[in-house]
Amino acid sequence: MLKPTVIAIPIFALLIGIEAWYSHRRHANAYETRDAWTNIFVGFMSVAFGALFGIFVAVIYNAAYELAPYKFPAEAWWTWAILFFVDDFAYYWFHRISHEMRLFWNFHVVHHSSEHYNLSVAVRQSWFSGILHWVFYAPIMLLGFAPWMFALMHGFNLIYQFWIHTKFIRNLGPLEHVLNTPSHHRVHHGVNNPYLDKNYAGVLIIWDKLFGSFVPETEEPRYGIIKPIKSYNPLWINTHGWVETWQAMRSRKGMLAKLRCIFGSPNIDAEESVTETRLPV
Ligand SMILES: [Zn+2]
Ligand SMILES: [Zn+2]
Repeated sequence: MLKPTVIAIPIFALLIGIEAWYSHRRHANAYETRDAWTNIFVGFMSVAFGALFGIFVAVIYNAAYELAPYKFPAEAWWTWAILFFVDDFAYYWFHRISHEMRLFWNFHVVHHSSEHYNLSVAVRQSWFSGILHWVFYAPIMLLGFAPWMFALMHGFNLIYQFWIHTKFIRNLGPLEHVLNTPSHHRVHHGVNNPYLDKNYAGVLIIWDKLFGSFVPETEEPRYGIIKPIKSYNPLWINTHGWVETWQAMRSRKGMLAKLRCIFGSPNIDAEESVTETRLPV
């Protein structure tokens, strides 16, 4: 079965073209040519790698589904309603931990390392996240949702997240209370202090409000990551996190400190360098 995200590619391409033209016409500078083409190339390759990792991920999902003591009926509408909430909830935690643990951040940083904010950034996705992202979703199969149902629902969740990567939709009124919107997601991509590690939602912003990670857009975001990557090399974009992790581990003494470099916060270096400058050893 073709994934919904693959079917959406021509629509994404068309919308990116329209937004780039609109930005150019309004002199809005939302696009930088080299950055946008890098995003698009990284996006295409992430679909290819996703298909490759998908083969072994499918084995895991099928095995998990086999273990499920109850199987949800695909023909019941309420199965799909429950799956929508379950999948969006799992996405929230997948995304949140992708920011809070370096092991997962090293994949997710790809999406955040552009210093621009436009529809092409939406497709800038990690090539290798398929190695591990299944740990957050396999429990959905254990709950009794068939892998094909999950793939369909999750595909639509990811397609939803495409259009929120724009500066040109400012505010959606009452919808802002319930849905993840361009405004909420601009905050997520911002490195301004109040915006860091906020608004992890997929479709529903309610999870952020429930788990204390919601912040509304109050100032113009500065986009990117704390330590800008300054590279358009797609391979480096996908691997620099691991090189930095390795360097951090080598500089730490003791097993626990080394393990913290992998399972601790990705901001560990920033936090420690602040302490070091205050208290030189
Ligand atoms: Zn993120
Ligand atoms: Zn995003």
